[in-house]
Amino acid sequence: MEKKVRVRFAPSPTGGLHLGGVRTALFNYLFAKKHNGTFVLRIEDTDQSRFVEGAEEYIEDCLNWCGIMPDESSGNPGNFGPYRQSERKSSYKKFAEQLVTDGYAYYAFDTPEELDAKRKEIPNFQYGQTTRMHMRNSLSLSHDEVAELLENEIPHVIRIKVPEDENVSFKDLIRGDVAFETSGVDDKVLLKADGMPTYHLAVVVDDKAMEITHIFRGEEWLPSAPVHILLWKYLGWENIMPQWAHLPLILKPDGNGKLSKRDGDRLGFPVYAMNWTDPKTGDVTTGFKELGFLPEAFVNMLAMLGWNDGTEQELFGLAELEEKFSLERISKAGAKFDFEKAKWFNHEWIKVTPAAELCRMVKVELQKENIEVENDKYLIHVLEMIKDRCFLLPDFIAQSAYFFDLPKAYDDAAIKAKWTPEKAAFFEVYAENLDLTSAEIAEIAFKALAEKHGFKAGELMLPFRIMLVGGKFGPGVFDIAVTLGVEKTQLRIEKAIQAFNA
Ligand code: GLU
Repeated sequence: MEKKVRVRFAPSPTGGLHLGGVRTALFNYLFAKKHNGTFVLRIEDTDQSRFVEGAEEYIEDCLNWCGIMPDESSGNPGNFGPYRQSERKSSYKKFAEQLVTDGYAYYAFDTPEELDAKRKEIPNFQYGQTTRMHMRNSLSLSHDEVAELLENEIPHVIRIKVPEDENVSFKDLIRGDVAFETSGVDDKVLLKADGMPTYHLAVVVDDKAMEITHIFRGEEWLPSAPVHILLWKYLGWENIMPQWAHLPLILKPDGNGKLSKRDGDRLGFPVYAMNWTDPKTGDVTTGFKELGFLPEAFVNMLAMLGWNDGTEQELFGLAELEEKFSLERISKAGAKFDFEKAKWFNHEWIKVTPAAELCRMVKVELQKENIEVENDKYLIHVLEMIKDRCFLLPDFIAQSAYFFDLPKAYDDAAIKAKWTPEKAAFFEVYAENLDLTSAEIAEIAFKALAEKHGFKAGELMLPFRIMLVGGKFGPGVFDIAVTLGVEKTQLRIEKAIQAFNA
């Protein structure tokens, strides 16, 4: 019988969630859904020095916002908990000891000062096959010396003994055959002096314990793969080792290297999914959500960073991704991040999202500008008219504010030079005879009156728009007038005539 698919997203709670991290979560999620499997969230918090308060909740909030909630997590445990590595501390040590007993790992007693001195002495120092015998460890010291050090509880770590001149190879589900010469791999620490495992030990022990079948993670973890594979083998679990899939990097817009938070700051776009507040400094880093992205657009954009369905189609909802996602169509090459394209996705999603659904989110944006919406139906109608013009949620403010209040200012440059007493006279008469039964009727009436006053209607349309909107934008001017209604349109014409005449 096929093994039931179990995948995990295993972030370390060290700060904001980079979009690459969300994409890793998304691909895990999609693979699980596609195969009726289970998507696990495991918090890798063994490195207490990098632990950041609030980061775990924040990660869950981000996944929640994206709609890719784990099936198992500390908040929603299954049969494989605990789901925080700090709570599994007691489970790791015995495996490190077992590796020592079996000759696959060793105790190392070098102090931080000794290690520092070595690093100064030897450029690019690696603790490994060429140097380990010159260090203080259970391979270089005598049996008695080691026994004494252990007896006296001298602080020590456990390191993996990477074999000499071996070739560690595996089949990566995305990259195909991958091979590493062990001569380039150092003896990673597995268990720290405080008894805590390092990432390398914990990740293998937990992937085994949680019966993980496939590991999707960023390409930056590829160099760690040989260590993990050796551990699976040395712990006697080779026959149940999960399959590996290293996802392509998300690159800077110019394609030169991995996209970092600093690139976002430098180029003015977000890199985190949601706002992240550094608990130490209070600094806030803007996220896609708060910048005005719809979660559907964010998820769609992420899915396309390294995957496509083999056609030209670019717009995919989560349900469709769940159905169409396939490993075979994940590319090996890094995917360039393009913020303009990200905004395009949002624009497309705003267009296809019903106004009634946008209503709640836009109301929040309007409230930020002290625009209170009393009537949802009115807002929905307005949204139907303007949503195709918006790329980010805050765009709705400028595009809709004038439906709720008089324009705060007029685009004088567009109007003043050509404003004449004759035009003022036309609008006085027009305001008194407004017929806004429908946009069509309003337009016919406007044109007829313009002609009567000796104008081409075109000359008067722009002033009329500026009277209602304040600027040269918005949907059809007669649609706007009809939406505002006779009274408000009249008032706006009168106010504007005064302003233009002044
Ligand atoms: N804790 C690692 C991270 O922060 C997980 C890497 C892996 O998936 O093996 O990304």
